[in-house]
Amino acid sequence: MSEGQSAAPVALEAKTPYELRVNLGASVPETDVRAALATGDMGFLHSFTTGSAVDGPGVRVVAWTTGCMWRCRYCHNPDTWTVTNGIPVTIATAAAELRKYRRGLKVMGGGFTLSGGEPLMQDRFAVKLLAAAKAMDIHTVIETNGYWGNRLSDGELETIDLVMLGIKTWDRERHRQLTGVEIGPTLDFARRLAASGRPIWVRFVLVPGLTDDLHDVAKIAGFAEALGNVERVEVLPFHQLGKYKWEQLGLQYTLHDVEPPSTELVSRTCAVFRAAGLDAW
Ligand code: SF4
Repeated sequence: MSEGQSAAPVALEAKTPYELRVNLGASVPETDVRAALATGDMGFLHSFTTGSAVDGPGVRVVAWTTGCMWRCRYCHNPDTWTVTNGIPVTIATAAAELRKYRRGLKVMGGGFTLSGGEPLMQDRFAVKLLAAAKAMDIHTVIETNGYWGNRLSDGELETIDLVMLGIKTWDRERHRQLTGVEIGPTLDFARRLAASGRPIWVRFVLVPGLTDDLHDVAKIAGFAEALGNVERVEVLPFHQLGKYKWEQLGLQYTLHDVEPPSTELVSRTCAVFRAAGLDAW
C-alpha cells in the first residue's frame, strides 16, 4: 500500500471535521488494511485539524481517525464509520505532522487529541501515535466511546493524559436503540480508568426527545461522581451540522425534525450533573 493512496489527492489537513470525506483509502487492498490494523504502522485518518478549543484542555491539534462500529442516530460524522473512507498515512507521517505543532502547543498549554470515528478501532495505530506524542512531551487526549478500552494495556493507558469519554444514555435498552450496542463495555472502561487514577472528562450529547430524560441523566451523574476521577462533564447540545453527510451518504437519518436543545434545557441538564457534585457545563 502506498501512503496517501486514494481516489483523488486530498490534503491531510482539513479546516473542519465536518468536511465529507469518502473512499480515500478504498483502493488499499484488504490484506493491507488488515495488516495496518494489526501493526499500527499505517493508519486511516479523516484529517488533521488545528486550533481546536473544544477537544481537551487548551488549544489542540486533533487527528480524526476513521472507523466506528457504533451507529449513533445523532452521529455528525457518519463518513468516519468506514475505515477506508480515511486517508492511509504511515505512523511516521502522522508523527511528523504532529511535530510541526510541538512548540506552539507547548506555548499555548494545549496538546494533541486523537478522535474519530472511534480511535480504538485502530488501536495499534492509536497507541503508536499517542506514544509518539508523549515522546515529544505533548499532552495527550483520546476521545472515545470506550467500547474497545480493553484493547489497551495498562502501560498503554499511561501514554494518555486524559480520556474524554462519551456516555450516551444510561438506560440499557435506550442505549441499544440509540447506538446499536450495549453500554456495559463503556462503563467497564470508565471503572478501569478510575481504578488506575486516569482522569476522565465525560461528554454527554443532549438530544431533545432522545437523551433529555433528567432521571436518566441523574443516573449517569451518580455513576460519574462515584468514579472519583471525573474532572468535568461537558454537555454538548445536539445540532444538525452533520445532517448533510447522512443525506449524501444515502443513510437513513431519523432526526430531521429534532431541534437543538433550548438554553434552559442545557442549563437544567448541567444542573443535574452539578447536583451530583460534578463540574459540568
Ligand atoms: S460513537 Fe461517535 S463516531 Fe461512532 S457513531 Fe457514535 S457519535 Fe458517531
